[in-house]
Amino acid sequence: MNRMIIDGKEISKKIREEVKREIREFGYKPRLAILMAGNDESSKVYANSKVKACKNVGIEAEIYYFSENEESKFFDILKFLNEDKNTHGIMIEMPLPKSFNAELVYDTINPYKDVDGISNYNMGKLFAGKPLFIPCTPKAILYILESINTQFVGKHAVVVGRSNILGKPVAKLLLDKNCTVTVCHSKTKDLAYYTKQADILVLAAGKMNLVKGDMIKEGAILIDAGINVYQNNIYGDADFEKVKDRCSSITPVPGGVGPVTTAMILKNTLEAFKYAIEGA
Ligand code: NDP
Repeated sequence: MNRMIIDGKEISKKIREEVKREIREFGYKPRLAILMAGNDESSKVYANSKVKACKNVGIEAEIYYFSENEESKFFDILKFLNEDKNTHGIMIEMPLPKSFNAELVYDTINPYKDVDGISNYNMGKLFAGKPLFIPCTPKAILYILESINTQFVGKHAVVVGRSNILGKPVAKLLLDKNCTVTVCHSKTKDLAYYTKQADILVLAAGKMNLVKGDMIKEGAILIDAGINVYQNNIYGDADFEKVKDRCSSITPVPGGVGPVTTAMILKNTLEAFKYAIEGA
């Protein structure tokens, strides 16, 4: 059997080049506002890397910083950006501080600028029909699967993790592709029983070494979205060295889902820009 380690950086490069070309044709720069509250160091790193990725394709990006006790200022700025004609996309850096009303944030963000699809409106649209924006990581996962010509129909897809921003949307997208979908979570008994049945296995739990070689069906496709930092290195949820020889295709961590997610932020910002100029 051919075994493939999926090159997320290469897939990402292709998307970024497409976005860059399209923006150049418009001759006008989309603008993304990134709102960051609290003092989470890794969130700052992520936010800065998004700004850099934006600049490389011709998107203007700005980070708005708020302290943990600036919730009302945060909402004032969010409402301003919702209406601002020069801002096309809005992204909220997660996690928000516990002192913030996250639910109200999801209800406040303008759905037409909500490039990570976190608003309750877009989440509802995703589950009921056609969303304005698909959350970036689930969209990246589907894009990766499509780019390797995955046959979805009738396949058993198992998703480990059920967060609103990752596990649940991935499960819905795979359902739309006519997979039979099982969703596992922290209360699932005998996780291996389910993972062993997966033709397509998506990991989104954030638990290092959760999935080992004997938990994989021979020939499965494994998409590992997990990000676990251990001794200054990044690992996924699968024990990569142990599982890779059982998979027909597998995403590494780092270099798999992460770079494609970043590319999807750019793609969704371009879509937001089009909503703005085409009069959503
Ligand atoms: P959450 O913590 O919100 O959700 C984790 C999910 O995993 C929960 O549904 C939880 O179950 C489930 N889970 C936890 N432990 C186990 C276990 N032992 N067995 C089975 N399921 C388990 O995380 P996110 O969804 O936001 O993120 C998941 C991972 O993806 C993280 O590592 C995160 O860093 C990464 N991530 C990667 C991105 C990328 O670009 N590659 C982007 C976003 C996130 P329960 O609901 O029962 O608590």
